Amino acid sequence: MSRVRVQGDLFHGVVPGSARYIGRAAPGLPRSRYANVHRVGLCRRCGVVHDQADAVAAYAADLAEQPELVAAARRELAGVDVACWCPIWPCHGDVLEAVLAGVDPLQMADRNRWLADMSEAG
Ligand SMILES: [Zn+2]
Ligand SMILES: [Zn+2]
Repeated sequence: MSRVRVQGDLFHGVVPGSARYIGRAAPGLPRSRYANVHRVGLCRRCGVVHDQADAVAAYAADLAEQPELVAAARRELAGVDVACWCPIWPCHGDVLEAVLAGVDPLQMADRNRWLADMSEAG
């Protein structure tokens, strides 16, 4: 699995090549079951403001409670490129990538882990 960005613009999202879209509903793109309900900024699910690390950690925490979704990801996304909009990586796609590599989502439900990744990415 590797990661690509959605091309086009917010009005006409285009998923490159054979990549699988993993984002929220957008014009031209139906919501993926792998979308992150935890948005950066004010999260409607949690009622708090997330930064990128929070949003990614919250996604991992949700996955940890949905073993059937983890199993589906391991089945459906193996060997597939995934596409999302996120301007900043790491994002929830990185969680999926690690899950596919066999990492337990619970291990990724820690914002400090993502903060460290982000400072490495610059
Ligand atoms: Zn949230
Ligand atoms: Zn993303």
